[in-house]
Amino acid sequence: MRRKLIAGNWKMNGSIAANAALLTQIQSGFEGAECDVAVCVPFPYLAQCQSLISCSALCLGAQDVSIYECGAYTGDVCAAMLLEFGCHFVIVGHSERRAYFGETDQLVAKKAAVAVEKGLVPIVCVGETREQREAGQTAPVVLAQIDAVLAALSADDLAKIVIAYEPVWAIGTGLTATPETAQEVHALLRARLKAKDAAAAEQVKILYGGSMKPDNAAALLAMPDIDGGLIGGASLKAQDFLAIVHAARAANETNHES
Ligand code: PEP
Repeated sequence: MRRKLIAGNWKMNGSIAANAALLTQIQSGFEGAECDVAVCVPFPYLAQCQSLISCSALCLGAQDVSIYECGAYTGDVCAAMLLEFGCHFVIVGHSERRAYFGETDQLVAKKAAVAVEKGLVPIVCVGETREQREAGQTAPVVLAQIDAVLAALSADDLAKIVIAYEPVWAIGTGLTATPETAQEVHALLRARLKAKDAAAAEQVKILYGGSMKPDNAAALLAMPDIDGGLIGGASLKAQDFLAIVHAARAANETNHES
């Protein structure tokens, strides 16, 4: 059974004072969370957050990684640097990077492959825009995004990634996919993974992202192919983030009982 993962995406938010307060509050409310939990923070705060994380159940992640190893790539941050600051996860292909920084399916796939090769776990984001959903293009769009990643990874490496299905129309908008709508896409993605490697497909966590909040988390996390959440806005509020972590823990317990 796949253990749920709740990953916070702080995006370009935070300050030294705010991060300290947030991480202190999150860790004091943990109570040995029986699910995996991560915070993906802006690059300049990795060192601070690494030193503040004292709870072994909380992992650190970054929000992007260079496809290059080192050298003359001004502004880029490579995997080796992220590893030096204790990163376990790195988000790749977030829709904001695709939309505002021109990241293509091929570049995202390359970032995912580099992350795996260097020992990071990429959280690979896929998802359709509102226009694409309304045009009935959800399946071809997310499958093209995932196919690019599959083409860049061996079957062994496939088991080392996390996928996040994030409908773009639900990110930061307060609109959420219904659990059934999200489950449909998660099942589609898992079937595509299965076609490459059935065993790996069973292991890969597929997170849902897009306005996941304390009041909708339990219903989403109850779906068979929703293995956790990538949380934007609600990850900046300790109470909300903890409530989602607790919903994931409860979902894990239900899975163990069944
Ligand atoms: C995100 O940015 O990955 C995200 C899911 O944001 P939000 O939870 O705010 O919709």
